[in-house]
Amino acid sequence: MIARSPFQGQPQDDVGELVRMALDVAGSLDPREVIARILERGTHAVQADRGTLSSLVDDHVVVEATYGRAGELTWVGQRYSLDYFEGQPLVKQAIESLQPAFGGRLALDKAAPEFRQALANVRHVAVLPLVHGGKVIGMLVFSRYEDKPFTGDDQAPLTLLGTISGLALRNARLYEEGEAARQRADETAARLRAAVDAAEDVASQVRLDQVLGRLLERASASVGADGASLARLEGSEMVIESTPTGELVGTRWPLIPKVLAGVRSGRAVELSAAEYTGAPPGMESAVQPYRRFLVAPLAVGGETIGLLAMAKAADDPFDPAAVQSLQQFSTLGALLLRNARLIEQTREAEQAKSEFMSIAVHELRAPLTVTGGYLSMALEGAFGELPKSLRDVLETAQRKTEEAKTIANELLTVARLEGKVLTPTVGRLLVRDAVTRAVARARPRAELVRASVQVAGDTDLAILADEAMVGKILDNLLNNALTYAERPPTIQVGAQLEGRQVSLTVADDGIGISAQDQLRIFQRFTRGTDRLVTEKPGTGLGLYLSRGLAEQMGGSLQLQSSQAGKGSTFVLRLPAAGS
Ligand code: ADP
Repeated sequence: MIARSPFQGQPQDDVGELVRMALDVAGSLDPREVIARILERGTHAVQADRGTLSSLVDDHVVVEATYGRAGELTWVGQRYSLDYFEGQPLVKQAIESLQPAFGGRLALDKAAPEFRQALANVRHVAVLPLVHGGKVIGMLVFSRYEDKPFTGDDQAPLTLLGTISGLALRNARLYEEGEAARQRADETAARLRAAVDAAEDVASQVRLDQVLGRLLERASASVGADGASLARLEGSEMVIESTPTGELVGTRWPLIPKVLAGVRSGRAVELSAAEYTGAPPGMESAVQPYRRFLVAPLAVGGETIGLLAMAKAADDPFDPAAVQSLQQFSTLGALLLRNARLIEQTREAEQAKSEFMSIAVHELRAPLTVTGGYLSMALEGAFGELPKSLRDVLETAQRKTEEAKTIANELLTVARLEGKVLTPTVGRLLVRDAVTRAVARARPRAELVRASVQVAGDTDLAILADEAMVGKILDNLLNNALTYAERPPTIQVGAQLEGRQVSLTVADDGIGISAQDQLRIFQRFTRGTDRLVTEKPGTGLGLYLSRGLAEQMGGSLQLQSSQAGKGSTFVLRLPAAGS
């Protein structure tokens, strides 16, 4: 404890003590710490029995803390209107003159009841305005209980103490504000990061219901909501599209005028439970658990297409950062909702097209079958002996009908594949069986072109696949190998295990595929550009279909290698079946 006031000694001692005090007081950036140091050092320095520090905030005085000489510091935090000090001339004088004001005790009858007791002991008071930038930002009141008045000698050091304290307090407050701002910026950045993460997460969902579900999940987590829903707008009503539990989906709700106004201005609207009226009959219980609502419009391209609503069970307002974050979610939501809609529409159109194709091909196939039947009967002599010229014509007609039927069948498979109605019946299949059967089916054509078909490799392997689909793929590959050759071809079918897959290869020594064509041959209706290709009949669907079928079974089909004039090797990979 300091026995002697430093300000009553030599001037240089005063300055030294003041510098030490300034360093001590300004040595912290925590406002509470600074206040504690000002009070402690100041009270001892001016030999007061009590020191009280108050801040001036707008037109209010906040009594921050009071310090008794015995060493006890009490945090007060009480707020008073500045008018209240009208009855205290000393305080008024100090604030107006920006100088310390001394006097007897403060006016007891004008003091707040809680101070009266403490003030009763006071004999002398010094009121020190805490000045910064020419403005009073706070006030230090020192009191002495003994009859030792503050004098003119105390004036200069007290003024200095006021200035040092004002500066230190101001710095600490600025630092605190800066910290708070930085923290807010950090929080905003974190929320933005969360929104970006959420965007990626939400965008990775393909189905509309999943997209919306994920969006609601992320948005409610971000704003700390207990309930959430997303609705599309239809006139003056909203239709619930998604809720976390799937409850209420499809229900229609009238738009509350306050929400409607928010929608028009493109802003989020906060509502209390009392304002959230108009639940459709029987659905009141859906909003009953909640006391606060935040509704944000989902707008895209200047059009509001829906609403994102968050609900909280506690009756406290949504924090402004949450409102801002919801705006971000609603922008994201609007875009996703619109994109998902467009994708869904495209998918529906694609499906409709596939369905149409299926029906059309079915219709086409029926008369072809009838015509084919009559042609066969006629050629077999069912309608009597045919003159040679007619037989030749009918034979050509029969070949063309068969080709048309093949095309119709391929188109039908394409339609089914694209319409996602072709689901594989997967079972354990021995490679040997699949290959032997396909080779047997190709034999008539192979003999016709005098081809040699060899099977090698590990045909004991088993795959998990749909037998008919594998048959179709192998038929296509073998047919192509037999077709695209200038000389009688040698075709090699091989099998080997590659990790958890079995690779089936079909290699030929035919015309090969130019680098240019290699990029296109798996596309729909795409054929090679070589004259040797175009002069043969074909639809350009075989490889497209075969790849689609392989993928349906969890496998793949690729051109492994090919060189113009030297042949090609295709590889079909399918999941291996455990032994
Ligand atoms: P298509 O045989 O009806 O033309 P595909 O989809 O089966 O239709 O084949 C596409 C194209 O790939 C063929 O037109 C041809 O140019 C090329 N192609 C496929 N298999 C071979 C092969 N084994 N040798 C050379 N070219 C081939």
